[in-house]
Amino acid sequence: MKPTDGEPAHPPLEPQPPAPVPPAPVPPEPVPPEPVPPEPVPPEPPQPAPAQPALTQPVAAEPKRPREKPATKGERRLIGIPVSPGVAIGPVFGAAEPQAVITRTRIQAIDTQAEIARFDAAIAQSRKQLLKLRARLGILPEDSQAEIAPLLDAYLQMIGSSRLVRGVRRRVADMLVSAETAVVDETDALAETILAMPGDDDRAGRKRRADEVREIGRRLIRNLTRAPFRSFTALPQGALLVCEALRPADAALLDPSRLAGVATDEGGADGHTAIMLRALGVPAVLGVPGITQAARPGETIIIDGAAGTVTLNPEPATLTAARRAVTAYARELQKLAALRRLPSVTADGEVVELQANLEIPAELPLIAQSGASGIGLLRTEFLFMNRETLPDENAQTETYRTIVEAMSGDPVTIRVLDWGGEKEIEALQSEGIVPEAADLNPALGIRGIRLLLREPDLFETQLAAILRAAAWGPVRILLPMVTNVAEVRAARDLYERVFRRLRRRGERLPDKAPPLGIMIETPGAALAADALALEADFFAIGTNDLTMYTLAVDRGESDVSALYDPLHPAVLRLVQFATEAALRMRMPVSVCGEMAANPSFVKLLIGLGLRSFSMNASAVPRVKQVVRTVDIDDCARFARRVMDQSDPAVIREMVTGAAAA
Ligand code: PEP
Ligand code: MG
Repeated sequence: MKPTDGEPAHPPLEPQPPAPVPPAPVPPEPVPPEPVPPEPVPPEPPQPAPAQPALTQPVAAEPKRPREKPATKGERRLIGIPVSPGVAIGPVFGAAEPQAVITRTRIQAIDTQAEIARFDAAIAQSRKQLLKLRARLGILPEDSQAEIAPLLDAYLQMIGSSRLVRGVRRRVADMLVSAETAVVDETDALAETILAMPGDDDRAGRKRRADEVREIGRRLIRNLTRAPFRSFTALPQGALLVCEALRPADAALLDPSRLAGVATDEGGADGHTAIMLRALGVPAVLGVPGITQAARPGETIIIDGAAGTVTLNPEPATLTAARRAVTAYARELQKLAALRRLPSVTADGEVVELQANLEIPAELPLIAQSGASGIGLLRTEFLFMNRETLPDENAQTETYRTIVEAMSGDPVTIRVLDWGGEKEIEALQSEGIVPEAADLNPALGIRGIRLLLREPDLFETQLAAILRAAAWGPVRILLPMVTNVAEVRAARDLYERVFRRLRRRGERLPDKAPPLGIMIETPGAALAADALALEADFFAIGTNDLTMYTLAVDRGESDVSALYDPLHPAVLRLVQFATEAALRMRMPVSVCGEMAANPSFVKLLIGLGLRSFSMNASAVPRVKQVVRTVDIDDCARFARRVMDQSDPAVIREMVTGAAAA
């Protein structure tokens, strides 16, 4: 692997613009359009299972045809997970799987099997997505279920033992084209056949079936290319984005000045997409089953990011109430903005440090407005996302330096690359550093520091860039996903080597190598905190992963979101244990997970001994407001009472009750 100099520099502060749309026909020889055999159009009746295991799933007998989306119905309210507060009213953008951009290519005969295997993997992935959507429909009202379920069944049938699937395989094998090319050509051919069928009756039905074929084609292409939703960069001003799922890489491309709100079928409260939307201050509700099927592009909807509701086709009275809520929320934000210049001290005069997390550079102005005293967690994944190659040392240095300079002397804690879990990075795949397959259990696999220690070039390049940027302002370096002391020792050896090398190279550097700290975000690290405190210069407690790994609950998964509870006593005990280990060593310790952003948790966390928090910029004023009202002794007494409890529900009641008091 080689994140080396000489590559095109990454623009310092802008997310990578979408790749230019490749000119369509590239192949040296044109791919002849296949004559469409006069078979009946899909969906087909079930057939004997073919040899491919991924495709042997028996297909339900002729499903009930999905109905057309009904013309205007009455007002409907769908419920999801509230992830980012605020109310947004506006037209729906998206609603369907966007068109992926593909390059039409030919393949060598020798690659046929591999290409068909890619197609099979895309089918398996598509089936998984559709079955997941199908399973979640149960919580919708019955009429919505009756409307959406047959549509999903039709999609599932088309990727079963169908003419579409056979046709794509045949094109790959006989015509030697890529799987993407074969999917586009086959779905186009099928859609045309359906539209050209004789008979004047049921034209609307034929059009609908042709659209469904194209829609499933788009899903297959997306799963083949794993393309981000780049088209979201073309959002019209004030649009409400409705889509099935947003990956963190997609969210990194959103323009918060145009986007008014987000609602998706999938997603969890503390996944990285949710974190980014909160950081950008975009009202959002994730995990709303059926939303992409129910919402029509262009129709007005209301997203209430605090209540977790999405209202379709709102009645005039609902619209009026929502408009009032928009105004009230804006007024509240204005009031909170007045706190910006006030110090973050408790009522009895103890300073509590409030810093901001940064996920994408677009948040920098929000950090400046928030009154945060520095960046407590700079997640560097954005630099590596949505690009084909890795950023080299100079490009990374420029980006870090710009951020450090923008903070005008306030400290910046830069976390080295935390690949893994839901954070996918194409460049790492295309350079062969991480495997292509999406399902390698990455949350428990080669994530964070594990990858960096395996890929010293990648690690050293990033460390060198951060060290060079540290000449422009106070910086700390943070290691993600640590579980044992050996990792910290190995990282420190490498870090010191890089520092010496840069010295020899004559680079401008700080006098001393900046502090090297670790995330406490695994139960292993929390329980070994006393040993780790001897190796690290500071701790940053990552309550998002700590909650996920302690409770065995995926943080980005809507199905188990009710079990994801940072107030579970097991999580709180780990936070307490790690904090006390750091305090005994007089070592700086902070919380930088989403727990730090919840004003209700301030009293408890201060009571556990914490005095430093880093959170999404928009949460800083609300947290400061609470900090300024609490008293340290009172917090300590409260924390003792909470830590005596074993029932998460009782703890939640105590914590939220105390916040309301
Ligand atoms: C955490 O896990 O709490 C954390 C801050 O890191 P991230 O959310 O980036 O995984
Ligand atoms: Mg983490």
